[in-house]
Parts: sequence; C-alpha cells; structure tokens
Amino acid sequence: EPGAHVPALVIGTGYGGSVAALRLAQAGVDVHMVEMGMAWDTPGSDGKIFANTTSPDYRSYWLRTRTKQPLSNFLGFPIDKDVPRYTGILDAEEMGGIIVYQGRGVGGGSLVNGGMAVTPRRENFGAVLPSVNADEMYSVYYPRANSGLGVGTVDLTWFETADCYQYARVGRKHAQRSGFPFVFVPDVYDWDYMEQEAAGTVPKSALAGEILYGNNYGKKSLQKTYLARATTTGRVSISPLHKVTSVAPATGGRYTVVIDRLDTGGNTTATKTVTADRVFFAAGSVGTSKLLVQLKATGALPGLNSEVGKGWGDNGNVMCGRANHLWDPTGAVQSSIPCSGIDNWAAGGAFAEVAPLPTGIETFASFYLSITKNPNRAQFSWNASAGKAELNWQTAWKQPSIDMAKTIFDKINAKEGTIYRTDLFGAYKIWGDHLTYHPLGGAVLNKATDNYGRLHGHPGLYVIDGALIPGNTSVNPFVTITALAERNIEKIIAADL
Ligand code: FAD
Repeated sequence: EPGAHVPALVIGTGYGGSVAALRLAQAGVDVHMVEMGMAWDTPGSDGKIFANTTSPDYRSYWLRTRTKQPLSNFLGFPIDKDVPRYTGILDAEEMGGIIVYQGRGVGGGSLVNGGMAVTPRRENFGAVLPSVNADEMYSVYYPRANSGLGVGTVDLTWFETADCYQYARVGRKHAQRSGFPFVFVPDVYDWDYMEQEAAGTVPKSALAGEILYGNNYGKKSLQKTYLARATTTGRVSISPLHKVTSVAPATGGRYTVVIDRLDTGGNTTATKTVTADRVFFAAGSVGTSKLLVQLKATGALPGLNSEVGKGWGDNGNVMCGRANHLWDPTGAVQSSIPCSGIDNWAAGGAFAEVAPLPTGIETFASFYLSITKNPNRAQFSWNASAGKAELNWQTAWKQPSIDMAKTIFDKINAKEGTIYRTDLFGAYKIWGDHLTYHPLGGAVLNKATDNYGRLHGHPGLYVIDGALIPGNTSVNPFVTITALAERNIEKIIAADL
C-alpha cells in the first residue's frame, strides 16, 4: 500500500532475493518483495503458462516487438519474428557491446534458465570470491544452497540409452577422443519427471523443447523451492509488475522506496512510495548495478563509494556449433536440459556445456555454451543527459573467450575431421560472441560492500545477488549466487537485526 512501512523490502525475486526473503521470514521479519516482471501463475489462451522455444509469442520477450533469439539464424535463415509488445519473460537487454539475457518475473532467472546447478571446483574458488572463507562455503553454504534448490543429477544408466541425450553422448565421444575430461553436470530439473516424459506418461517440457521462455513442467524454479517456502511462512508478500525506481534515506534511519506499478504494455500506471527499515538489492547484476549508479550519481544515496558499478563481467560466455559427419547424428528429440560438460578450465580456461539444439529435427550439429576465464571487466556509469545507466563493454573483449573455447573445439574438429557451423549466428559467423546469459558484478563484495554485502555509506542497505560476484564463477553461476546469499543473510540476521 502507498505510504506503508515494511521492516524489510527486497528488490527482485531471483536467487539472492528469494534466499533473503526466506531466511528473514524464518527469523520473524516481515518481508515485502517487489518484482518488475509478472507472476507467471496464470495460463494463457492455449492453457499453458509458458510459450515454447519453437513458437515464441507475446509471453516470450520483455517489451520487444520482435524476438531476439540467442541463435538468430538456422541453416542460414534468420528466425526472429514479430511479437506483440508485452511484459514477457525473457529480457534481451542491449547494453552497447553486449546483449544481456535475463529472466523477468517472480523467480527471476530461474524461470528462463537451463537449471544447470554447478558448484565450482574447490581449487578455483579463490579466484571466484577471494575474500570469502572457502572452508565455510564448501562445508556449509554450498550444501545448503544445493539442498534448498533441489539439485540432482541424471541417472547414469538411463542416460546411456535415452534418445534425448544422444547429443550428449556424441559430445562425450568427441571430447574423450581428443583427451578432454567429460563431466556430468547437476541440474534442478526433476530427473524422474524427465524419464516419465521419455516414457510418454506425463506432459512433456524438457522433451518438448521448453527452455528460455519458461518450462511448464519439470523444472524446480524458485517458485517451487525457495519462494514457495518463503510464502508459506505467512511473512512474505510479493508485488509483481512493480519496479523500484529510487531508494533514499528517510527519517529515523529508514529508507524511502519509490515504486512504479506497470501494466503488461510496460506503461507506468501508478507511482507509490513506501518506507523500509532495510532494503535488499536483489535486482540481478544488471538491475542492481543500474539502480546503484543512478542513485549515487543523482545524489539519492551520496554515501555509496566509487566501487559501485565496477567489476562487471560476462562469465566469459561464448557459443559455437560444430557440424558433425552424417554417421554422428545428435538426435531429432533433444532434452532442452543439458546434463554434461567438457572441463578444460585448468589447461585452456574453458568449461563448455554440451548444449542441446532442440529444433525437433536432426541437425547433425553439436552445440556448446562455453564459460571461459575472460579477464575483461566493464563498468556501469550514469549518463545524465540520456537519463540512464550505461555499460562500457566492447564486443572485441570477447576475443579471449573465443581463444579459450578454441583450445577445446579446434582440437576436436582436427581430431574428428569436422568444421564449425557458420549458419547459427548470421552469415558465416562462427562465434556467438554478442551475448551473455551470466551477468556478474557491478557491486562487488568487499569493494562496493563490506564482506557480507552491506553497502558502504548507508546502514540498512544490502546487495545480495549476482552483482556481488566479480565477473566470473568458472562454471554456471546460480549455485554460487545462492550459496553466497545464504552465507551473507545468516551473518546479517545474526549481527544486524
Ligand atoms: P535474477 O535471477 O536476475 O533476479 C533479479 C530479479 O530482479 C528479476 O526477476 C528482475 O525482473 C528483477 N528486477 C530487476 N530490476 C528490478 C527493479 N528495478 N524493480 C523490481 N524488480 C527488478 N545459471 C546457472 O547457474 N545455470 C544455468 O543453466 C543457467 N542458464 C541460463 C540460461 C539463460 C537463458 C539465462 C538468461 C540465464 C541462465 N543462467 C544460468 C544465469 C542465472 O539465471 C543467473 O545467474 C541468475 O538468475 C542471477 O540471479 P540473481 O539473484 O543475481 O538475479
């Protein structure tokens, strides 16, 4: 309600926000969560909540009139199409030199992502979060996060014969013949459900190509895990289609939070002001960073330090496809949930997911999303005349990622006598180097905040999402975002409340 007061206000309902809400509520604190995206709890006219990847519609994109698919082309033909402008689930946010894909709605990135739930190798953790005690993370917070998220692994016997993982078995064969370690990757998808999909006994999701625009079944998104537990405490309320535009000090150590109510066309239909004792920034790396640089530059939060906006990275994401021989088909039906990867991190700085290309037809393509040790970091700054935050990432900064991914795929191509696909990202373009799924940083732990996410200069303000992580996690990021949030909120509840 406008003018209301809340003890804790959480901006965003992704991983960091959901952990904060659950743990604060369990500690007896009333929490209000503000989410700019939709609730995603009501079926459309086709009876389904989410649209399929093969037929994107009004539900698929955040306020776009044309789709912006990560793979823009297939067999050389552009595949993007017009859609009605709507507060859809996937934001393809164009930030100068990079398109940053993000989930929009209650559950944040968990709505759109592949659910790959990977804990970094222990020996790499020091480079991921240098100021965090690794012993504590690996003994307490990573296990807590994995359990809270419902992480599991594909049944290895079933994997060997499942048609939908032929692409992964081909990926394994090619990796191992070139001497690369092949690893199974855990996921939050319900593996028993997927086996039932394959058996034809339940409605299909992973085996119907659902991903990117939501999964109607099977995936344990935050709606089904942390947020479900948070709301059953009775202490957590959520306002979807509400966007925070300002946070500023009020009297009594409180903060005034300004919130726009949106309609499904993205128009502001009302502006509300509430006060909060504590505000948790959990709007995602990009959302939190944009808000903080704006609030610092416009004088709303003058105490923020000069680290705000800095240390942003793309987790080294780069995509590519390989064209297989006709005797190496990858399967017409591919599970949209990846279950494996090629680990060349130590030797070549790349960890490649063996990814699906769920087109419904045989493509003879192997497709990969690589996470690489790209050292480049960008910065958000406030452009006062344009009235928006900007990111100075340059497209050419992806070159180290391409070089690292090539340590794997040049070798596999040489061994197999195969070539890269040139038809997936535009004419003769081999590398998907225009995007990231894994934005990280912008309000880095122990720099823009203290070592637990408390923003410098304004007691009662916290960052608790991917903005804390300085640009790279060496694997897919959400388990690390969740585990760090578990660590930080435990300290904040014990020391600050
Ligand atoms: P988010 O999950 O991004 O949540 C932030 C929320 O805040 C969003 O719901 C947003 O709408 C909301 N918000 C933003 N600004 C405001 C505002 N001003 N007011 C109100 N609300 C606001 N990671 C993995 O680990 N494994 C994977 O398999 C994987 N696959 C991915 C596939 C895709 C297509 C994408 C896009 C991402 C994938 N990721 C994956 C990345 C993962 O989803 C993100 O790292 C993760 O969601 C980030 O968590 P977060 O808590 O920082 O923020």
